[in-house]
Amino acid sequence: MLKKIYKSIFSERQRNDVHFFSFRFRALQYRGDKVKCSCCNGTFSTFLTYGNVPRENAVCPRCNALERNRVLWLYLTKVLNIEEKKWKILHFAPERTLEKRMKQLKKLTYIGADLNPDLADYQMDITQIPHEENEFDLIICSHVLGHVPDEGLAIREMKRVLKKDGLAIVMTVIDLNNRKTYENEAIKTPEERLKNYGEDDLTRLHGLDFGQRLKTQGFEVEALDYRLTFSEAEQKRLGLGQGAREMLFLCKH
Ligand SMILES: [Zn+2]
Repeated sequence: MLKKIYKSIFSERQRNDVHFFSFRFRALQYRGDKVKCSCCNGTFSTFLTYGNVPRENAVCPRCNALERNRVLWLYLTKVLNIEEKKWKILHFAPERTLEKRMKQLKKLTYIGADLNPDLADYQMDITQIPHEENEFDLIICSHVLGHVPDEGLAIREMKRVLKKDGLAIVMTVIDLNNRKTYENEAIKTPEERLKNYGEDDLTRLHGLDFGQRLKTQGFEVEALDYRLTFSEAEQKRLGLGQGAREMLFLCKH
């Protein structure tokens, strides 16, 4: 009952603000120096377990970053030097901690976009991007395409608005045991999706052909497991995951 009243009074965005503020207190329980979150620079005794199939060492107690967010931020800062760039960036389904970091970089022109207006500054359908072609230096699309019914159109739209010398970083959850992406229109309910795709709101479960699916729509693609540039001890301390969710697909014209 109280939960219902809370939900009716506050928007999803406001509830998220409260939620994220409360993580500061959660973090106090995990003081320590065993793990380090690259997204918020905090050190903790552990990352927290997370996922439908629970993964240990996954969530940052303070900024709620997941393994894939930490891998991406390390790549953006250490390889792309994003902190020095004057880029125009389009970020789909922005992870809160990454959105915050990029908004702090005043040289960037940053657009965070989501189909759900409560989850980003701009409401946007990735299959109908309301921007000119050749507009963005960097597009970030992490764990979005598995949810989009017309994936091919979404990829072509990203390519259209990406500058000719720009970069789109695409990430997704990949079934490393499956060569081919699995999708079946008969799978409709959240229960069936969870059982077949591992998450209750996925439309497909990508396989090892994911890079090829991006290429089919016209991108040049390099698949990079950036985690592997770190030692095993560093991967563990930085909580960089196991590889099924953290692969960077670097897409260019
Ligand atoms: Zn963090």
